[in-house]
Amino acid sequence: MSTRAVYRFVDHTIRHEPEGGVTFEAFCATPGCDEESGPQEDQEAAQKWCLRHTGRTGHDLFRRVVTDHARVTRAEPLHSEQS
Ligand SMILES: [Zn+2]
Repeated sequence: MSTRAVYRFVDHTIRHEPEGGVTFEAFCATPGCDEESGPQEDQEAAQKWCLRHTGRTGHDLFRRVVTDHARVTRAEPLHSEQS
């Protein structure tokens, strides 16, 4: 028995969605250190966390992650089955 998948092409658009917000996060990149800033609502808060962490530990390398939200919308209305 074989199954056949049918894919219909539908145009979609993806764009930044302000509603979901943007988060800034910093992760200490020093081996053996698992500390992280946690999600912050502004970049300055994440940077301050880095400065405080360096002052406290001497760790000076961070991985920074910015997360935003995107929404996909269908570009044209659905067509009903024709067959
Ligand atoms: Zn650290």
